[in-house]
Amino acid sequence: MEAPVAKNEYYDVIFEDLTHDGAGVAKIDGFPIFVPNGLPGEKAKVKVVKVKKGYGFGRLIELYEQSEDRIDAPCSIYKQCGGCQLQHIRYEGQLKAKYKHVKEVLARIGKIEHATVHPVLGMSDPWRYRNKAQVPVGEREGGIVAGFYKERSHDIIDMDTCLIQQEMNDIVVQTVKEICEQYNIPAYNEQTHKGVLRHIMARYGATTKEVMVVLITRTEELPHKKKMIEAIIDRVPNVKSIVQNINPKRTNVIMGEETRVLWGSEYIYDYIGDVRFAISARSFYQVNPEQTKVLYDQAIAYANLTGEETVIDAYCGIGTISLFLAKKAKKVYGVEVVPEAIADAKRNAELNGITNVEFAVGEAEVVIPKWYEQGVKADCIVVDPPRKGCEESLLQTIIAMKPNRVVYVSCNPATLARDLRILEDGGYKTMEVQPVDMFPHTMHVECVAKLELSFVHSK
Ligand code: SAH
Repeated sequence: MEAPVAKNEYYDVIFEDLTHDGAGVAKIDGFPIFVPNGLPGEKAKVKVVKVKKGYGFGRLIELYEQSEDRIDAPCSIYKQCGGCQLQHIRYEGQLKAKYKHVKEVLARIGKIEHATVHPVLGMSDPWRYRNKAQVPVGEREGGIVAGFYKERSHDIIDMDTCLIQQEMNDIVVQTVKEICEQYNIPAYNEQTHKGVLRHIMARYGATTKEVMVVLITRTEELPHKKKMIEAIIDRVPNVKSIVQNINPKRTNVIMGEETRVLWGSEYIYDYIGDVRFAISARSFYQVNPEQTKVLYDQAIAYANLTGEETVIDAYCGIGTISLFLAKKAKKVYGVEVVPEAIADAKRNAELNGITNVEFAVGEAEVVIPKWYEQGVKADCIVVDPPRKGCEESLLQTIIAMKPNRVVYVSCNPATLARDLRILEDGGYKTMEVQPVDMFPHTMHVECVAKLELSFVHSK
């Protein structure tokens, strides 16, 4: 079919929908055009900038009629920065859009239409929530810049403050930037693979107020190391840990293999509810502590434990969900691929006097089949994989092991839907899905799904 639109032409449209990354969708003679910044219901003039097979992209030229969900984005660099996508939408509108996205993706990709999808649980104050900042460092006209990458590029937008970050993380980034200027510490250059400082990472324990500063460098050597450490201690309140991570590779992966404590402790502490956690530089820790509690409470409720069960927590990180499960189960097995995270998990069990957990380092899809062979039989399995979802082989092991219940925590509705379909074909039924807004103003949405065993394959 010939596209009914042409590049560089102008059209009057009404936006009908919103993509998951916040672009408006308008149809011109049935042909979808994606237009950043357009909102459903709005009438606008757009210019078509790219035409592909079956769809096109446009630029918003003039708004004739505004949506009541449209607001002025509070952040001054919102338009340039690739960090947030939804700041121009009222928070309630963001939650509605995320709900719709989850429902549609579950139906389209997973053919999951029978499960109850609950309204997204949002925050009462959806700002300044992130406990971790991880910003690339660069140089421009001799000065140091640190901030976010511009959307779909590696240009660094220099940033003084980020409205979704804890203020303390802003302080850390600004301080390190100033110190680098002061002592002429060269920023890493991606093109030439020269320079020293690649990323600044700040982590803040929201309940303990403890701060960790991680300097990610290309080189082992960190010029003016002593002076830098002194300046950080002097200027960052309540800093407990200063760490250098060395990443000598030409790569987009932020952290390297080697981590050295420059000063203080190798980890900081934080609480979720009444459980205390030690968190080290390379370990995953949820970035929105307030909503983490909401998410975990839901996951634990879906696990529906009586105290008699054996539970597996796959992709357990530093053992956060495992320890909450352990309080309500007979035995919990946690598995995670990052060794530092498992060291943290073991320490965290001890710290909280929890003895009915066992942690293993390895890939869930390798370790869990081994446990199964050794006779471990779980009554409930919790999975919380990264964005790419679970390996199919892990899902097949779950289907073979037949726990009564599976709780799937997911930060990517598309892979969640794909994996739920596999579990459903293996005998599980998705009962409920609870989306939780862990990442206000961004396109991301977290979900927790409850599955029950509904039939057993007779193989
Ligand atoms: N449940 C934890 C961590 C979730 S993030 C929490 O809520 O904090 C996902 C975790 O999966 C990360 O810690 C990552 O290191 C780990 N991971 C990634 N691939 C894995 C794999 N194949 N097997 C086990 N763990 C994996």
